[in-house]
Amino acid sequence: MQTYSNYIAGEWSPSVSGKTKEIINPATQEVVGSAPVSTAEDLDAAVQAASEARVAWAKLSGAARGDYLYKVANLIESRLDEIAQAMTEEMGKTFPEAKGETARGVAILRYYAGEGMRKVGDVIPSTDNEAFMFTKRVPLGVVGIITPWNFPVAIPIWKMAPALIYGNTIIIKPASETAITAAKVIDCFHEAGLPKGVVNMVTGPGSVIGDGIVNHPGIMGISFTGSDVVGRGIAKGAVARGAKFQLEMGGKNPVIIAADADLDKAVEGTISGAFRSTGQKCTATSRVLVHSSIKEAFADKLLSAMEEIKIGNGMEDGVWMGPCSSEGQMETVLSYIEKGKEEGAKLIYGGNRLAGSEYDKGFYVEPTIFDEVDSKMQIAQEEIFGPVIALITFDDIEEAFELANDTPFGLSASIYTENIGAMLQFIDNVDAGLVRINAETAGVELQAPFGGMKQSSSHSREQGEAAIEFYTSIKTVFVKG
Ligand code: NAD
Repeated sequence: MQTYSNYIAGEWSPSVSGKTKEIINPATQEVVGSAPVSTAEDLDAAVQAASEARVAWAKLSGAARGDYLYKVANLIESRLDEIAQAMTEEMGKTFPEAKGETARGVAILRYYAGEGMRKVGDVIPSTDNEAFMFTKRVPLGVVGIITPWNFPVAIPIWKMAPALIYGNTIIIKPASETAITAAKVIDCFHEAGLPKGVVNMVTGPGSVIGDGIVNHPGIMGISFTGSDVVGRGIAKGAVARGAKFQLEMGGKNPVIIAADADLDKAVEGTISGAFRSTGQKCTATSRVLVHSSIKEAFADKLLSAMEEIKIGNGMEDGVWMGPCSSEGQMETVLSYIEKGKEEGAKLIYGGNRLAGSEYDKGFYVEPTIFDEVDSKMQIAQEEIFGPVIALITFDDIEEAFELANDTPFGLSASIYTENIGAMLQFIDNVDAGLVRINAETAGVELQAPFGGMKQSSSHSREQGEAAIEFYTSIKTVFVKG
């Protein structure tokens, strides 16, 4: 079992606390390694290193910074299986999904490496015809990045790559549950030879290191992905000291199955959207709104397709759905299943912790379907973040749009229909940052903006060209000869 370290000023070092925390494989409960439980002092050292590296890094050309990102991409690609295995062992996602995510990280790095050669300003005509006026985007300085455990490669990289290409230096605090995967990714930045202090990683509790990032006067921008409860607190702290911040948070994503939907495609998209990654995606389908005329036919097909889901240790061939990421996560999911029953929803599939043989060792919950759910029930309003869906029936498409919008969240939404009018109405009426037609709710393309509406986001966008908005400030320059 390996003990991992913090990465500060180009070196791997233990926390000054001397403390570490074990990381548990949710499929087996075996210890897979341990990571530092860091302190405010460790964070101060990282901020100092990032501050010292800042000016020289910002002075490099975008192309030179891009060259580093290309090197990191190649290194991650060469260690793809090793990184993906660490991910599966830390948080339970199946190995093929973990490999897909790691490959996504490589593609994101290459995309942003290319951004180093693209424009960072505009020429604006001055009313003074002897003057030259233009904008120039400049880095924020030191940026703090706080990430969750559910996409432990893609999310850190979709924040780090744009932060770096636009000239910022960074401190990342990954989720403690996936600190080993994070360390392996950061090791690729180390091997690529980035100047010391440009990238720093400090692991530890959110209440110490996460909160420390939010309140540190040396950090000019905070990019956070995680739960809405933690996000709201970060917003308060950042506003109080005038730091720039960006939050991407939870979802309660609906899929609408219209009366004319292709039911086979709708079932396939519902299962994939709801149960891949054990339902632990911010864009996972959690509410299935079905037209009453096809409800029975849809439910029959759905229930028979559920039988195909093979559950087990994500490292084993043929396994389609792994365990919940931790014991705590499993307990949360099971408690929502109990709430659903108490609220009067009808449990039509699953609903239990899996037991027997290898299941006894891990945190496995059956994929679960509730029928006859009322939109006001807790299981239809709150993010469960597990393999549980709620079926809600509607009679006309306007009612479906109202139901789709009937939660505090607004991350992703999809519809299955052949009717172009319904598609266009859906695009206009649904409150979601990601709107998908005849496709599952989960699914993000790295070159397009990503983010939510309502309580899912701070209303900024990540990824694609949109990332420049957060990671830079605009200077308006007026030059007169
Ligand atoms: P979480 O909010 O518990 O933790 C996220 C990160 O914040 C972790 O690194 C954690 O240590 C840190 N943190 C905890 N308390 C903190 C504090 N007081 N101050 C600062 N940082 C603190 O979330 P999680 O359980 O790791 O992840 C699951 C959540 O993330 C779900 O709600 C999911 O929807 C959301 N998510 C959103 C997106 C998106 O892009 N919208 C993507 C993935 C996950």
